[in-house]
Amino acid sequence: MKENGGGRKQGATSPCAACKLLRRRCTQDQCVFAPYFPGDEPHKFASVHKVFGASNVNKMIQELPEYQRGDAVSSMVYEANARMKDPIYGCVGTISSLQHQIDLLQTQLAIAQAELLHMKMQQFSSAILSGDAVTAANSPENVSSVISAHAVRSVFGI
Ligand SMILES: [Zn+2]
Repeated sequence: MKENGGGRKQGATSPCAACKLLRRRCTQDQCVFAPYFPGDEPHKFASVHKVFGASNVNKMIQELPEYQRGDAVSSMVYEANARMKDPIYGCVGTISSLQHQIDLLQTQLAIAQAELLHMKMQQFSSAILSGDAVTAANSPENVSSVISAHAVRSVFGI
């Protein structure tokens, strides 16, 4: 059995996925698709062909320097798959859903930080009330915590 460098490169006789789908002769060393669309991954080319069209994909690949083509093809495949899953928003749907999650988590984090400051402030107050001057005096950061807790509480209305 002959290995062919990790299975990415096709043998001289087998056409790339693009040429196979477009039913044309694949000249491996001249075919612009061959390095990026191996014959054993037909779904990759099928997706980009369906969404962007083979001639546009060809044009986009050729407009780029060779070292950037692999990444460009990966992103086209990703975008094409996203567009097929979500024909309205495509990648934007994923981005905006993640953005929404970030906003939600940032709000939760701010609330948790405010609660923490509130608890620190309560601890500080009870230390003063119980006359535990050592605890209060040993926590100089409590002074700024009280101030920021107050600010945060007024912002969040807690
Ligand atoms: Zn080809």
